[in-house]
Amino acid sequence: MRTQVGIVGAGPAGLLLSHLLHLHGIESVVLEARSRQHVEERVRAGVLEQGTVDLLNKTGVGERMMRQGLVHQGIELQFGGRRHRIDFASLTGGKSVMIYAQNEVVRDLTNARLAAGGQVFFEVEDVRVQDFDGPKPKIHFRRDGAAQELNCDFVAGCDGFHGVCRPSIPAGVLTVFERIYPFAWLGILVEAPPSSKELIYAYHERGFALLSMRSPTISRLYIQCPPEEEISAWRDQRIWSELHKRLAIAGWELREGPVLQKSITGMRSFVVEPMQCGRLFLAGDSAHIVPPTGAKGLNLAASDVQVLARALVEYYTSGHTKLLDQYSETCLRRIWKVQRFSWWMTSMLHRFSEDNPFDQRRQLAELDYVTSSNAASQTLAENYVGLPMN
Ligand SMILES: Cc1cc2nc3c(=O)[nH]c(=O)nc-3n(C[C@H](O)[C@H](O)[C@H](O)COP(=O)(O)OP(=O)(O)OC[C@H]3O[C@@H](n4cnc5c(N)ncnc54)[C@H](O)[C@@H]3O)c2cc1C
Repeated sequence: MRTQVGIVGAGPAGLLLSHLLHLHGIESVVLEARSRQHVEERVRAGVLEQGTVDLLNKTGVGERMMRQGLVHQGIELQFGGRRHRIDFASLTGGKSVMIYAQNEVVRDLTNARLAAGGQVFFEVEDVRVQDFDGPKPKIHFRRDGAAQELNCDFVAGCDGFHGVCRPSIPAGVLTVFERIYPFAWLGILVEAPPSSKELIYAYHERGFALLSMRSPTISRLYIQCPPEEEISAWRDQRIWSELHKRLAIAGWELREGPVLQKSITGMRSFVVEPMQCGRLFLAGDSAHIVPPTGAKGLNLAASDVQVLARALVEYYTSGHTKLLDQYSETCLRRIWKVQRFSWWMTSMLHRFSEDNPFDQRRQLAELDYVTSSNAASQTLAENYVGLPMN
């Protein structure tokens, strides 16, 4: 089998890359380990930056998002028993974010690829990337039990944090930058209309809480918990009780509903440099992870593949490799700024230890500053709606 670009992973990064390449007449094959149903139902992120929304619209896959997504023009920061709104529209010259679940983005992209005759192979096994240090990379895999070989000009490693592409790069090429946080997020997906029109980020002495949503009928709520915690230790009643305490405010009520899903996710910041090795290019979570407090993981995946698609288009139209050679450097400039923002939001809003009153006073002062200074509010808003795409 032969194609121009072999893409490992049918998450947002892999599917969007395949879609962008197709719009420029470049062929790709996407190889995905999980089933189509699994990928389309996997609950993850849900906040799209203005630039991601614009990209999906511009490339013809934003129609359902524009119909069903929720435009948010601000967020609430809660601390000391009060809520303070950060108004994106006035602070960023009219920008906003879109609430639209990641799995719906994946569904729209999959439908678009398949409708255009794109090759997306689900449930492939034993994917191995080889020979990417030379001009003829190969991807070996098994499909319906049969061994297959895909010859391609380039390989895009869009296979997430636990994929095979990054570990295939020889030792010594990549430098890892990492921070593991001493807490995790326990998240629940709830069948109930959101109790607030906008997201509420709550700093509380019991730990951080976030009220978010995926649609007008589905709420998504999170609480900070110890990283070693087992989900079985958290019965629904215990989770609701904690959410009520951390999000409480006079005159407001948290609406409960059936819990559809619950999970605990560890929190880390992670970047590898460079994001390329020969003809293998890493994009999205395979190259970097951000703690979800800034709602950036999916958006970073979109901005990486936009850069990669542009570089591949340059190569196929002119034979030049200038943009491909600069891929890592171009992406990393934006990635590090987004890492900084995600780390900052995480550091401001979570309890790091039980017994450090200095840090707690400092966090409260920071929240007070962010919500009372126009300059500080603007900094938060500018980053939240998204820095300019590369
Ligand atoms: C559990 C979890 C919860 C998250 N929750 C949030 C959240 O609440 N808010 C937020 O802002 N962000 C969240 N994120 C981050 C966000 O969802 C990611 O940043 C985003 O999915 C990145 O997209 P991606 O395409 O790079 O990677 P992924 O979405 O991980 O896609 C990678 C794809 O590659 C496939 N794959 C992996 N290995 C192989 C292999 N060997 N062969 C073939 N295919 C393979 C995977 O099945 C997957 O479909 C969450 C991430 C995770 C992992």
